[in-house]
Amino acid sequence: MNSESGATELAEPNLRAWLTTIGLDVEYVRGAGNTLFMRGDDGAEIPVIDYAGGYGALFFGHNHPVITARARELLDTGAPVLAQFSAHPQASRLVLELNRIIHRELGDTEPYYATFANSGAEAIEAAVKHAELDRVSRLSAVTGELEAATARARSAVLAGEAAVDPGVWQRLGVPRPAGDGDAVADLVAEIARRNAAQTARPPVFLALEGGFHGKLGTSVQLTHNEGYRAPFQALAAGARFVPRERPEVLKDILAEESGTLLGLAVTGGGVRLVERDHHTLCAFLVEPIQGEGGIRPLSEEFARQIQEFSAAAGCPIVVDEIQSGMGRVGRLLASSHLGLRADYYVLAKSLGGGLAKAAVMLVRGSRYRQEFELVHSSTFAKDGFSCPIALTVLELLEADGGRAYTLALERGAALAGMLESVRAAFPDVVKEIRGRGLMLGLEFHDQSGSADPLVRDAVASGTFGYLIAGHLLQAHRIRTFPTASAVSTLRFEPSVLLTDAEIDRLEEALTDVCAILRGRTGKRLAIP
Ligand code: PMP
Repeated sequence: MNSESGATELAEPNLRAWLTTIGLDVEYVRGAGNTLFMRGDDGAEIPVIDYAGGYGALFFGHNHPVITARARELLDTGAPVLAQFSAHPQASRLVLELNRIIHRELGDTEPYYATFANSGAEAIEAAVKHAELDRVSRLSAVTGELEAATARARSAVLAGEAAVDPGVWQRLGVPRPAGDGDAVADLVAEIARRNAAQTARPPVFLALEGGFHGKLGTSVQLTHNEGYRAPFQALAAGARFVPRERPEVLKDILAEESGTLLGLAVTGGGVRLVERDHHTLCAFLVEPIQGEGGIRPLSEEFARQIQEFSAAAGCPIVVDEIQSGMGRVGRLLASSHLGLRADYYVLAKSLGGGLAKAAVMLVRGSRYRQEFELVHSSTFAKDGFSCPIALTVLELLEADGGRAYTLALERGAALAGMLESVRAAFPDVVKEIRGRGLMLGLEFHDQSGSADPLVRDAVASGTFGYLIAGHLLQAHRIRTFPTASAVSTLRFEPSVLLTDAEIDRLEEALTDVCAILRGRTGKRLAIP
């Protein structure tokens, strides 16, 4: 089934070899709706039902006719794709439309400013960079104020207009100099030393355990999976991972990351010490439903606690809607179901309609730093192909009074109902069904005690879900994968075009898998 078997492979050869061992090394030659067609040994096309949906990027399926028509029109009319540093009316319209929908979902009117990117991870990096620019700008404003006040206090002492409150020397552990001269010089130096130590503390990012935010230099440091993150630890962003549903941990983190900035101020002829709280927290990254972490929805309660923490600490929230957004769970923003209000939203995947590589990072008006536009850009972002395609995607979402959102919930409920019935039939094999809309996961019970060595070995090597994926493809012509950081959970993220017949086919396939895993049929998983 490999059209070029025998040829030298230089494009990720190890990955290719591994895919071969579990029967996933097939070539897809065509895609339409929820179906991918692979090439059979006789050259004929074999349809495969696609439940992986481009890892959640195909809300409207493969090659949706309206989206492909728009793409054709752009190419046929010679639309300029790369015309950087010019007016981009399509990008402007896209951002206005995103704002209109977000305002409807949040019941608010604060504008969100957009920065475009080419991939999800890149847009996360843009959000992180923006948050850091904002943090250092605020910090420099505070230190600037304190330094100016300290200088005024010093001048007042030198001019004999004010005297330093004796408690100040004591508080800073600086001996009070005898005699005349610049008596405050040592105090000022000590304050500067302490402030420099405080401001030099690197920013800290908060992210949830199980979270996934990309695999680039910074974003991978915010991805909890150690295998992805640890080799690159020295590269960038310090992250602290917060256990899910444990708000008390947030208080400890805030206390540990808090410090003080100092200055002097003159009040009523006395010079006293001014202390300003300062913490190193730069941003809190959250997925409303963790995708790669095993399709785990955030609870409304924890979302509220995160929101309260963010408000109390002044730490912005970055809501990563890369997988959960764009209609998949019945809204543009899955977080709006939770009442979570972000300082930053990140959208990607389905934004590109399955044809374009598009991502956008949105910053709320009250946090937006215009100077970011001068320090951040990419050759390919905000291009003349992906922006009109993304606009078409929004048009499809909003058509017929938002029929696609309703359909996502309705189709999702049908799919979830079937998955629940499989769980009910095999409670000893299937642990839990999770998710919302068309973002669903099925978690298997731990199979490390399986009588089948093939299954045991796969569990031990962390490839269990891929073994099941290979069987689903080879024996049932169904394509899905485990989630990237939780490989005992299969993901189901089909398009909104999902039919009842496709759900029935999946039921048959999962019933077969569960019966095999239960180990009483004598049947084994299909491997090449
Ligand atoms: N965040 C989330 C929630 C994701 O699911 C992903 C991709 N699985 C990313 C970020 C990274 O996106 P990309 O692969 O486009 O870089």
